[in-house]
Amino acid sequence: MEKAVVVFSGGQDSTTCLLWALEEFAEVETVTFLYGQRHELEVDYAKKIANNFGVKQKIIQMDLLNQLTENALTRKDIEIEEAEGEIPNTFVEGRNHIFLSFAAIYAKTVGANHIITGVSETEFSGYPDCRDEFIQSLNNTLNLAMDSSLKLITPLMWKNKAEVWKMADQMGQLEYINENTLTCYNGVVGTGCEKCPACQLRNEGLQTYLRERNDV
Ligand code: ZN
Repeated sequence: MEKAVVVFSGGQDSTTCLLWALEEFAEVETVTFLYGQRHELEVDYAKKIANNFGVKQKIIQMDLLNQLTENALTRKDIEIEEAEGEIPNTFVEGRNHIFLSFAAIYAKTVGANHIITGVSETEFSGYPDCRDEFIQSLNNTLNLAMDSSLKLITPLMWKNKAEVWKMADQMGQLEYINENTLTCYNGVVGTGCEKCPACQLRNEGLQTYLRERNDV
């Protein structure tokens, strides 16, 4: 039986990936990483969504990352800033690399051959470990490391935010995702604070998609 593990944060992208995985795979589990998120709320929403869809959620404690980096996503006393054309200061160097490696070890132990992650090169704000080239390279490395035949799957790799909303809509889940996922850096669920960079990207994508849908 085909089994998949979804790297799941409770945000728009990973929730879209989770719902996609539920359509594609016979068995689906999620892993959620705790790393001193700015908002522990994020984890509560992730738990709620996993419960809503009856999927198992493995929570892995990763706050050791805070020993290495100081940035706005993990430290409440640092303001979020995003200068034009620069990597936002919410960036944790190498985070996806570490998370995917842990997810792969977990997947192997539960007999899952597929690992799904919502990374995207299209909206990539300069995160090198969101690029397709990195994912493919890591996929090889993991299989060499564990003598396995795991497959890293990135359903959103070439999609912009409007296309991610379209994907949700095609699964009949646009409303659910819009109301129940947390993307906002200020911890406001759904449409969010509408001011932070994450909210702006998400809401602009939604408006773009809805305009396109209404034009058809
Ligand atoms: Zn926000």
